[in-house]
Amino acid sequence: MTPDAPLIDRSLFGPGPTNTYPEADAALVRPLLGHLDPVFIQLMDETCEMLRTLWGTTNARTLPLSATGSGGMEAAFVNTVHRGDVVVVAINGLFGQRMAELASRLGARVVPVESEWGRPLDPDDVLRAHPSPAIICAVHAETSTGVRNDVAALGAGKGDALLLTDHVTSIGGMPLAVDDWGIDVAYAGTQKCLSVAPGLAPFTINDRAFERRVERPTSWYFDLGLLGGYVGGDAGGKRTYHHTAPTAMVVSLHAALTRILSEGLDAVTARHEAAGAALQEGLQEMGLELFAAEGYRLPQLTTVRVPDGVDSAKVRAYLLQTFSIEIGAGIGEFADSVWRIGLMGHNAQPRSVALVLGALKQAIA
Ligand code: PLP
Repeated sequence: MTPDAPLIDRSLFGPGPTNTYPEADAALVRPLLGHLDPVFIQLMDETCEMLRTLWGTTNARTLPLSATGSGGMEAAFVNTVHRGDVVVVAINGLFGQRMAELASRLGARVVPVESEWGRPLDPDDVLRAHPSPAIICAVHAETSTGVRNDVAALGAGKGDALLLTDHVTSIGGMPLAVDDWGIDVAYAGTQKCLSVAPGLAPFTINDRAFERRVERPTSWYFDLGLLGGYVGGDAGGKRTYHHTAPTAMVVSLHAALTRILSEGLDAVTARHEAAGAALQEGLQEMGLELFAAEGYRLPQLTTVRVPDGVDSAKVRAYLLQTFSIEIGAGIGEFADSVWRIGLMGHNAQPRSVALVLGALKQAIA
């Protein structure tokens, strides 16, 4: 490790983490606050309230869990899946597969509904998979393939089932309306379109799902019955000690959310759309073929096929060494044949589009 290695400044154009908003960085160097400090408690309250706005929910139980996105996934499943439950899982990528794995570990009867990687799920197929599932699960933005799934259609047709959705890559970059779309439980992560370092999992659950929850989930850390007091909600506004809040991370998230809301959610979404469209157009003008199905492409994460005769790993290494640019490889069978290019949060801007297109052109010339 060279002595200046910690100062290397990368352009993080992969599937996450992305470069952070300057406001989120600045917050990390503030003097640390204690987790029961009244100033921190107020910042936590405001963070939960801003998260409600981003989620599009009035759910009282909305909080940043102290974990990465996978912790959000664990929390969602351990609190809602009862042994023997029928759980329909929509799968068109790695993160759908993980949902099925988690449900199965909890003793659910998993009904997988698969669609080809790179293609969206057909909501009718998912809704027809079982007459009375306890839970229907889907990933809104499949990071492994760059595909958007129509979770609103699942909410409209879910009947008595709970709808549990993954928004790790969608929150802060795409329209999101938890209440209007009929989502009961949802989790996300900070390191993608929220442009905060990895480490927190924004989470929300409505009363309907909370009332049906597992009383004593196998995870103590993610037991929502205990975590209510951590943010005051289930203890009549009174804080009860559960674990030490990662105060620096919450303050950083607070700064990023404040920045996002002052720009305006519609403007932030439009910025992601414009950057994604310009990147996708530029890649096609270079003669490259996009991987995700047209009409379902994520603006914040573009998947593109590696041209014949080009060594995927060599190009990625060249970008890193020559331009300090990181892009991602594909996943699973597409590891060598697809690149994943993210323009998320702070990176969803024209200069990133120009930078990555110019560098890639040189790398594959
Ligand atoms: N779900 C999706 C859609 C993701 O993209 C990721 C991470 O990339 C995760 C879950 C897991 O999140 P983390 O890696 O932060 O634990």
